[in-house]
Amino acid sequence: MSDRIVTMDKIVNLAKRRGFVFPSSEIYGGLASCWDYGPLGVELKRNVKEAWWRDTVTSRPDVVGLDCAIMMHPRVWEASGHVKNFTDPLVDCKKCKQRFRADQLDMVQCPEKPSKHPGECGGELTGARQFNLMFETHMGPVEDSGATVYLRPETAQGIFVNFVNVVNSARMRPPFGIAQIGKSFRNEITPGNFLFRTREFEQMELEFFVKPGDDDEWFKYWLDRRIAWYREYGIRAERLKLRPHASDELAHYAKGCSDVEYDFPIGWQELEGIANRTDFDLKQHIEYSGKDLSFYDDGTKERFVPYVIEPSAGADRSTLAFLVDAYDEDEAEGEQRAVLRLHPSLAPIKVAVLPLMRKAGLPEKASEIVETLRPHCAVAYDQAGSIGRRYRRQDEAGTPLGITVDYQTLEDETVTLRDRDSMQQERIATAELLDVVRERIAPPTSSRGLLP
Ligand code: ATP
Repeated sequence: MSDRIVTMDKIVNLAKRRGFVFPSSEIYGGLASCWDYGPLGVELKRNVKEAWWRDTVTSRPDVVGLDCAIMMHPRVWEASGHVKNFTDPLVDCKKCKQRFRADQLDMVQCPEKPSKHPGECGGELTGARQFNLMFETHMGPVEDSGATVYLRPETAQGIFVNFVNVVNSARMRPPFGIAQIGKSFRNEITPGNFLFRTREFEQMELEFFVKPGDDDEWFKYWLDRRIAWYREYGIRAERLKLRPHASDELAHYAKGCSDVEYDFPIGWQELEGIANRTDFDLKQHIEYSGKDLSFYDDGTKERFVPYVIEPSAGADRSTLAFLVDAYDEDEAEGEQRAVLRLHPSLAPIKVAVLPLMRKAGLPEKASEIVETLRPHCAVAYDQAGSIGRRYRRQDEAGTPLGITVDYQTLEDETVTLRDRDSMQQERIATAELLDVVRERIAPPTSSRGLLP
């Protein structure tokens, strides 16, 4: 990995400088592991979520969406096992008094001796204790234990508790899925590495309900589909892999689980978990709620509790992976440039329109083109500085297309269209621009293939 150009520091710096991501509450010194998405970042992350939603929900006949409340009945988290089991092992350093996740000591630095890992710095670590990661708060004006609620640590449970509502209202029958994108909260012991591990983050989760017996086939289907999604949006094959969990790593209820891993600058790490959760979740909610969450198939006259295949991805972690993967440096027009080779449909800005000079009616003509494109895509107008400098700025923002308006435009209604990656320029009639732009920024055609 040492030959790689990209480092986490370069990504953090570019993100701050160009307005992708800022430290949260920065004017007050920041808040550990909390980040704010700036003007470019918010577009990028929205595009990532939109790409997931399009692929997982709107382009399929067998998946519907949901948007649940973050606060749920506390019994949900008893049924799901989170109150009892959603813990990480924690150790304290007796010397510096900091806390670390016992199973990830090799991933963090000693705060006093950053070249060492905790425990290797001369400080003695305590034995491991279990620490529950759920954030607690109180609902209403009385702060007693009866009013305790949790900020959801995953979006999945909102899907399980609405299973019957969706079956009845949307007339779905297995195999079918319910998808949700939303914030989750985990009081992580050692957050860090920029957007990789934060205490507040967004998940993109699908619970796909199938007839018991069909689960192995659907598990395999979703493993293939999710890898294909990252590839279609440009993630390099050599930085992506599936890592099946060893049997001692599997949750007791899971029949199978594989992580989609990405080769981040901090090494291979989980991007998404894909699990065959069997009928565990629905059965737990049947037991705790006393409600019947089984499915009756009136064709075969069978009643069953569906098995669930769960692809669970992080929106922020994926956004980070797309940024890291897209980052490149090369030479453009005799100058060093940093460029984000984002898939055009993920890029925050699709087209930059640049008048060659700030005179002779060129800005007016460029503004006209901006207004033609604006209803169809995110477009930027930039007239400040040399043309080379303006290209560099757009390259760093990942803008796939640049349109330059020059004197010839005024004569023959053509412009130059510059491609971010090849830096090739071609002359195009303004009348054709909209079609050409639309074609070049279109989302990838899915290689989904046949359903099992
Ligand atoms: P990890 O082992 O990294 O703590 P996990 O196995 O607990 O992750 P899941 O519960 O499977 O994670 O969550 C699904 C996805 O949600 C993860 O693959 C990741 O993309 C995202 N995610 C989980 N925790 C965080 C976090 N603290 N910050 C950012 N994203 C997260």
